[in-house]
Amino acid sequence: MTLSQRILNLRPYVPGEQPQDKKYLKLNTNENPYPPSPKVQDFLRKFDFEKLRLYPDPLCTKIRQRLSEKYGIAPEQVFVSNGSDEVLSFCFYAFFDSTQGRLLFPEVTYSFYPVYCDYYGIAYEKVPLDGSFAVDLRSFLRRHDSCGIIFANPNAPTGTCLNLHDITLLLENYPRTNVVVIDEAYVDFGGASAIPLLRDFSNLLIVRTFSKSLSLAGLRLGFAVGRKDLIQALFATKDAFNSYPVNTLTQLIGEVALSDEDYYSSVTKRIIATRDRFSKKLLDLSWNVLPSKANFVFASKKGVPGKEVYFKLKELGILVRHFDEEMTRDFVRITIGKNEDMDRLLQALKDLF
Ligand SMILES: *Cc1c(COP(=O)(O)O)cnc(C)c1O
Repeated sequence: MTLSQRILNLRPYVPGEQPQDKKYLKLNTNENPYPPSPKVQDFLRKFDFEKLRLYPDPLCTKIRQRLSEKYGIAPEQVFVSNGSDEVLSFCFYAFFDSTQGRLLFPEVTYSFYPVYCDYYGIAYEKVPLDGSFAVDLRSFLRRHDSCGIIFANPNAPTGTCLNLHDITLLLENYPRTNVVVIDEAYVDFGGASAIPLLRDFSNLLIVRTFSKSLSLAGLRLGFAVGRKDLIQALFATKDAFNSYPVNTLTQLIGEVALSDEDYYSSVTKRIIATRDRFSKKLLDLSWNVLPSKANFVFASKKGVPGKEVYFKLKELGILVRHFDEEMTRDFVRITIGKNEDMDRLLQALKDLF
């Protein structure tokens, strides 16, 4: 059997474990510990299954309308697709062309970015973090030789967050001809969204997801907001690949979820309170904990390799995430669960280390 050269060279992303064998306390893939809005449950109970007979709306008109109202922009400024990973993949295809220079992203960031670069043949360069493990936008400022920039804010897997002042400074000093993508997967947990900057910067594109703060990782729904011409480019990319990536149920459930802001704001507040409480207790146990504005923390303990933390916790039925790369090897990334989940983890860490 002959395979293409493409597939022989491919280095796929390795997702966090989704074990099907036994029941773990899952603190490894930044899922929300609380259920989706109860309105989603009501909707599913009443859903008319005959609606599945037809293809879904390829333009996702209704959900884009709702998102545009929520963020005070035009519906033509919203693109929706099958999880923000797919949205990101389309961004890499549509905006980054290394005949114009290399794509820049932080040295430590979402590990899908280099995978998309390889997939689409985009040359890239990793920009070092600053001394406190935060994204250093000053090092991006001087780089007019690049074809674009992408970073996550808050960053993953570190949880650190940039302020709008620094992001504005970057955008003011970066060529308007190149696209800057900000991946705001975690912004609802305390970060400042760059959406208000869309008015001033035509080359800015922001990517969001329903997976984390809206507790719908199983739904697969993500979106991008930006100027109309960038959004049109994303639609063209989608239609060259799959005209119907967002299924009917997903579109309808997404709409229902957006109608329950009260529920989600109370859930988000609870997660933030648990994160801050957990971080403090971990610091009290002499762990190093990076300041987080996400629903996870990145932490290390002197003299204990991250891998050992990962394996010992797994034996106790607790899953966290370890990234075995030079800069991240000492750390584990811990998703924030409910208070009782974090207490169980703290007890385990106290007993083990
Ligand atoms: C989780 C995550 C995503 C992907 O979200 P999906 O919408 O579930 O595909 C994108 N970017 C970052 C930084 C993430 O952590």
